[in-house]
Amino acid sequence: MDLSYILNHLGEDRSQYFNAVAPPIIQSSNFAFKSIADMRHGLMHEFETPFYTRGYNPTVAILRKKLAALDGADDALVTSSGSAAIALAVMGVVKAGQHVVCVEKPYSWTYKLFTLLLSQYGVETTFVDGTNAENYRQAIRPNTALFYLESPNSLTFELQDIAAVCAIAKQHNIKTIIDNSNATPLFQKPINLGVDLCVYSATKYFNGHSDVVAGVITGHKPLIDSIFKSELMTIGAILSPHDAALILRGLRTLPLRLQQVQKTTATVVSYLENNPHVAKVLYTGSPNFSQYTLAQQQMSGHGGLFTIYLKTTEIPKIEAFCDALKRFILATSWGGHESLIFPAVVLITSTNYQSPSLDPAMIRFYIGLEDADVLIADLEQAFSKL
Ligand SMILES: *Cc1c(COP(=O)(O)O)cnc(C)c1O
Repeated sequence: MDLSYILNHLGEDRSQYFNAVAPPIIQSSNFAFKSIADMRHGLMHEFETPFYTRGYNPTVAILRKKLAALDGADDALVTSSGSAAIALAVMGVVKAGQHVVCVEKPYSWTYKLFTLLLSQYGVETTFVDGTNAENYRQAIRPNTALFYLESPNSLTFELQDIAAVCAIAKQHNIKTIIDNSNATPLFQKPINLGVDLCVYSATKYFNGHSDVVAGVITGHKPLIDSIFKSELMTIGAILSPHDAALILRGLRTLPLRLQQVQKTTATVVSYLENNPHVAKVLYTGSPNFSQYTLAQQQMSGHGGLFTIYLKTTEIPKIEAFCDALKRFILATSWGGHESLIFPAVVLITSTNYQSPSLDPAMIRFYIGLEDADVLIADLEQAFSKL
């Protein structure tokens, strides 16, 4: 199925809704039936037809079809946040008393899911350096049920060799989940590489306009069905029809946005790599990136995230540089229209001021849809503050 068909037509049966070109927002919690027989039929198929919106909503269903197709998956679930998608997918695979091998330094709330929440239910997690697939094999225990991957992560961008990690998992009957938020299905297709479930923060590129928090799980039918009927239906962390419609609107331009972001990011990165104030740039699309060969092999493009380390380690100077930026907004998240910075100095408090694990010279960038020369001019004037 071609990308244009998925984004412009798939799942949209316009004859069902007055031939409206844009999908309607079916803002209804429940759906009516003409007879007991009809209602009985509805109840029997409550996951595939309109019965109750926690289980099935027509607007949300259009979004699910498109997201599944983007990943080459059988089906997709959408959730109220990316963190909900991660928690539901993991709980769908791991039971009490089992063991997880997780890449080190995953998304912060993923780390907390394993260390604070699932540990209460007797689930133990080993964090490994995922840049060597063999580290996953070394960590296997008799009760290992899941390998969790995040490639690239969204701060320091370490990759896992997805095909290699999945091959090890299959030999040991272990399930695999990857957080593919950073690459998106446009730049990386983990299901083709053997992954069981992909999870996403749809808050980021899928929606792309910094106005919705949402999550996605994609995968093969049996596992998605079981997460749907068990974890998603009982916990109820569903996406509202309104937010689904906003993400459908965002998806129309996903390829255009990613192409533009990729092009501008490459220009800004090459400016920064040649800037005397910058000690190091981490960007998966740069030949200087330590895992560039693997990146070229399993990714077909690179988004707008990268991290720089300034040469200076003087905190007042770093803060002056960040405060001077005008086109880059100081804010968390990424994947929207607007360029952002998230400086490590934000994490500095009076209690961890001298923490050895915190490098104050580190600044995570996200490049949005602005012109490269505007962003570079802004960086240029802010560097003059150093
Ligand atoms: C933002 C993010 C999440 C969490 O998604 P929310 O939509 O904020 O809940 C998970 N993984 C990665 C890589 C993220 O950047």
